[in-house]
Amino acid sequence: MSEQDCLFCKIVNGDLAADIVYENDTLIAFRDIDPKAPTHILLIPRRHIATMNDLQDGDESLSGELLLAATRIAADEGLADEGYRVVMNCNAAAGQSVFHIHLHLMGGRTMTWPPG
Ligand code: 5GP
Ligand code: ZN
Repeated sequence: MSEQDCLFCKIVNGDLAADIVYENDTLIAFRDIDPKAPTHILLIPRRHIATMNDLQDGDESLSGELLLAATRIAADEGLADEGYRVVMNCNAAAGQSVFHIHLHLMGGRTMTWPPG
């Protein structure tokens, strides 16, 4: 899929509306349209990266920023003490359906382990 057709690039470009909870020069965080938990937020890099397999040397800071932003948003959402889950699915077998990497931040209910 090209960047032009990418759903999350459209959110980055402002061509598709999203309920944005946080953004900076590197990343955007917005509420999942079909939440799987009372709080379900997706964190994406502004830059199009299709899958985790496409992360490269030089993306260390980007990857860390996504993770750190998730912890800050979790705190803002009141999830830090009770707990939350962050997940990044890579490719079809893991359930990736949008091919622009995104970190799922989910909380507000008890999670089971292992995931299905
Ligand atoms: P994946 O299955 O790729 O790990 O996760 C994709 C996520 O994107 C799903 O949880 C899905 O509900 C969410 N999603 C798909 N389309 C849209 C959209 O247009 N807007 C928002 N906010 N979320 C979307
Ligand atoms: Zn994209």
